[in-house]
Amino acid sequence: MAGRRKKKTAAGALIAILCIAGLLLMFALGTDGTFLDSLGEIFSSTASSSSSAETAANVAKLVPPDNDDLLLYVIDTGNSDSMVFLTPDGHSLLIDAGESDDADRILDTLSALGIESLDAVVATHPHADHIGSMAAVLNNIPVGTIYMTDFTATTKTYEKMLDAIEENSIPAVNVTEGYAFNLGGIRFTALNPQNREYSDANNSSIVLLAEYGSTKFLFEGDAEEEAIADMLANYSGLMDVDVLKVGHHGSHNATTQEFLNVTTPSFAIINCGEGNDYGHPHKETVDMLNAMGITILRTDQNSDIAVFSDGTAIRYAAAA
Ligand SMILES: [Zn+2]
Repeated sequence: MAGRRKKKTAAGALIAILCIAGLLLMFALGTDGTFLDSLGEIFSSTASSSSSAETAANVAKLVPPDNDDLLLYVIDTGNSDSMVFLTPDGHSLLIDAGESDDADRILDTLSALGIESLDAVVATHPHADHIGSMAAVLNNIPVGTIYMTDFTATTKTYEKMLDAIEENSIPAVNVTEGYAFNLGGIRFTALNPQNREYSDANNSSIVLLAEYGSTKFLFEGDAEEEAIADMLANYSGLMDVDVLKVGHHGSHNATTQEFLNVTTPSFAIINCGEGNDYGHPHKETVDMLNAMGITILRTDQNSDIAVFSDGTAIRYAAAA
């Protein structure tokens, strides 16, 4: 008896499933797939609208509508880098583009900041946590120039970036030490890569010095000890800065005491993800920064970070 009842229930369930599947199929076919498309839209629009609302709320919270200072907006993309300069006269430069799933976050931030085109984009080095969404950025917003290193990669992510550069006819400039340009009152100078071959992509990172009035920012990319030693040998006179984008997500192999003694930043920005697999930022780095009384701003704790310069002083605001 029990066995027969089970069989009947199983047969009933099968018929019910077939009926539902049939109904869904009729719906999908009868509307040329629009039913399935609209289901997809419902799910994707729910996901992106909540994150773009959150992104817009962060920007509104951190950047006053009447801001007329230089803005550096550090986008919380987790354990990856992406930040954008917006000058008082409306020029913009993006440094790196996070991982491949950060495209919406980055594009939503640019949009919330009122950036409709980028004068320049810097791809510090070809690792996926720096150029992951670069193709999406290049394909979705007009870009004046892309600055990159001649350290190449064979990854799909890198090839997608090259395709996007070609398809959108974006001028690409290979940067080495000493390369400098001006944008909206900021003087940018590359201190790395040095004119020699590096064994790995991190040490070939574009390290960018940004000077605005008497304030200075240094962006290390993922440069490690090898590149740091070269920069200290050749550019220590230029490296006394106010804001340091700490190298390699706060890894112990990207910050040395000698480097901090020369750079003496007041603010250190660390791009890292909560509970990341690498243990970034490493305790040694955080300890060195703390011992020097440097204010540490971390994306895993502060989320988005806005740094302002009026040309003489730096201030900041953080989303968390
Ligand atoms: Zn990295």
